[in-house]
Amino acid sequence: MQIEERLRADIVEIGRRLHDRGFVASNDGNISVRLDAERLLTTPAGVSKGFMTPDMMVTTDFSGRKLTGEREPSSEILMHLAVYEHRPEIEAVVHAHPPTATGFSVAGIPLDRAVLAEVVTTLGSIPIADYGTPSTSELADAVRHYIRAHDGLLLANHGALTVAHDLFGAYYKMETVEHFARISLVARQLGGERLLSREEVNRLQGLRDRYGIAAPAPLCPPAREEGKEGEDVSCQVLEAPSQPGARLVEAQTVGSGGAATRDCHLGLLDPDDGIRLTYRELTALIADAVKQLR
Ligand SMILES: [Zn+2]
Repeated sequence: MQIEERLRADIVEIGRRLHDRGFVASNDGNISVRLDAERLLTTPAGVSKGFMTPDMMVTTDFSGRKLTGEREPSSEILMHLAVYEHRPEIEAVVHAHPPTATGFSVAGIPLDRAVLAEVVTTLGSIPIADYGTPSTSELADAVRHYIRAHDGLLLANHGALTVAHDLFGAYYKMETVEHFARISLVARQLGGERLLSREEVNRLQGLRDRYGIAAPAPLCPPAREEGKEGEDVSCQVLEAPSQPGARLVEAQTVGSGGAATRDCHLGLLDPDDGIRLTYRELTALIADAVKQLR
């Protein structure tokens, strides 16, 4: 099978999987792959990713100009182009709206806690790229800010984006992002994650070479904030507190600056804290609870 023919078939297959798993609804999502130094093969606009055929694909140049295909390229192609421009080693990009990961992006909660060994080893942290209107250069700029240092991103109030050396690699990373989001959600419902210590994280990242995993960027030093205003992010912020000798760290012992502060911003209260409601708020809460019961 010719390379292009195989890549068209792979995009069809990945589109079907994204659709079957509920990672996209309607015509959401898009997939692209490098064909050669001048051309990109991408999904067409306005088509369900679950019902594509190989002949529907569009080829473009690296400025997004259509070269061949009966249909138009995806309207979110600019975001893909930003990836290819800044990550010459990346061959494929997958964008979807998987519900749990997208829920984190809507809630403004990045997936940046060291929780699962596999995720630490493969993706590291998954930050949230700022909101940008879909199909505009705003979104491409938001992606550009983070993509040098990450293989998986959440897109604020939108979805997720993953990149890899081949199509299936990018797709599997999308599965990992959604799976990680679901596990994180359940752990938080059960009282919160126990985190991997920084020592353990360093050990896991040291195993990357053995498994042939190329890290997009090193971890940021503990006290460092990721990319300053106007500066592209060059390292990964991963919440993994230093606790000498400990491999797992209890959530409540997580440093005062990290999770605790952020949880406060999210409005998560300490269960021992008192809470004061006005009579009107209390009445509304009770009315709401009664409604839920019906
Ligand atoms: Zn989208």
